[in-house]
Amino acid sequence: MYHEGARYRVNKVNLAFDENTQELTEYSLKLCSSCGYGHMISSGPGPDTCGSCGTAIRPVDEIRSMVRLQNVTVKRADQITSDEEERQRVGYEIQTTYRFSEIAGSIDVRKAEVTLDDNLLATLRYGDAAQIWRINLGWRRRSNPHDHGFHLDVERGYWATNKEADDNDREDPQSKLVRKVVPYVEDHRNVMTVKFAEQHDVNVMASVQSALKQAIQQEYQLEPGELAAEPLPSKDDRQLLFFYESAEGGAGVLRQLVEDPSAMARVARAALAICHLDPETGEDRAAEEHIQCEAACYDCLLEYGNQPDHNFIDRSLIRQLLISLSQSRTVASSSGISRVDQLDEMMRLCDSGLERKWLQLVHDTHRAIPTHAQYLIASCNTRPDFFYHDKRTAIYIDGPVHDQDETAADDGLIESRLMAAGIMFIRFRHDEDWEAKLKEYPDIFGTGG
Ligand SMILES: [Zn+2]
Ligand SMILES: [Zn+2]
Repeated sequence: MYHEGARYRVNKVNLAFDENTQELTEYSLKLCSSCGYGHMISSGPGPDTCGSCGTAIRPVDEIRSMVRLQNVTVKRADQITSDEEERQRVGYEIQTTYRFSEIAGSIDVRKAEVTLDDNLLATLRYGDAAQIWRINLGWRRRSNPHDHGFHLDVERGYWATNKEADDNDREDPQSKLVRKVVPYVEDHRNVMTVKFAEQHDVNVMASVQSALKQAIQQEYQLEPGELAAEPLPSKDDRQLLFFYESAEGGAGVLRQLVEDPSAMARVARAALAICHLDPETGEDRAAEEHIQCEAACYDCLLEYGNQPDHNFIDRSLIRQLLISLSQSRTVASSSGISRVDQLDEMMRLCDSGLERKWLQLVHDTHRAIPTHAQYLIASCNTRPDFFYHDKRTAIYIDGPVHDQDETAADDGLIESRLMAAGIMFIRFRHDEDWEAKLKEYPDIFGTGG
């Protein structure tokens, strides 16, 4: 992330021209004002509502005249050491937005709820290799914040200075040589959003963002710069925290935060310690440890990279939040609705007591609840009792009738059709140890506990 400053600073621009027409393609992006989800549009009006949360998208939420810059590879060592590049980055207003990848028309996202004594503290959403866009809206100190972008000499592929742009206008008012465009880069990254159940103000959000980022880095021994954290939809309106792994492929730590029931609690304990607070009691240890720190210092929550947030950051404001998180459990959930509603809905759809018993066990052992019940897979002529859509896995709960020869033969036929369609299936027999079987498939059901 740190190299973007330098990337924008070089005068010669690596623009992504259309391979066929050699034209510079301009895009628009509709940004959800509620969750910060991005909708990239190459033609037409684009969606009216957010594809992730359903919020209506207003005309003012659209960023226009965007041009894509080619990605440039920068060595990691340069990213960390170059203060100059950080300074450049801080000077720009960068809008980050993302889109979860899609598999067979449905969004590939893992969700989890962070709870304490049945109270929801936060909802986590994680995506492998989500598309992320980093959009440079312009200088942070520009006079009109709604005026986005930079002047680009399209013909020569140079960023034009304002003077050049003015000269150009004077010589030829019709000139299309210099255009005002909004440059962006596109990558695929592992991403995670954190939405707190309670709405917090900018001070709390900025502080907890820094605390969790540093604690994750420490807990998983990441290099500085391997993890990035930003507020979404914007710095002025912090609805949720957005984390992403800076390297393509990534170390996989964000995924663990969603899948490991105790990972968030461990991270929160580390965050308390980073804030000079006792991880058990929350007591302020700064004086005892001879640290001069009022709101925050460079030993706790301040970093060069979060300089624009320094006025907001105050470790004392997040003490209670971090203590709650440190005692929390994280439970995977496979759909957008809350786990309890999801369970009720599934229970209604079950058509045998045996199925309800299985579902209750999955819930009670804090495992992932299926996305569908009685789900028709027409191409295989089967309706499994449960289905995990994101994992393409069908679940059958077999009562005693499946022991009979004829039914067993039908089951075999269905299984071969499922295999041909690339759909995994797991059978739970009425007389076998279901918990042991659930444990065999942590990828499908989570680790539970
Ligand atoms: Zn949204
Ligand atoms: Zn400090």
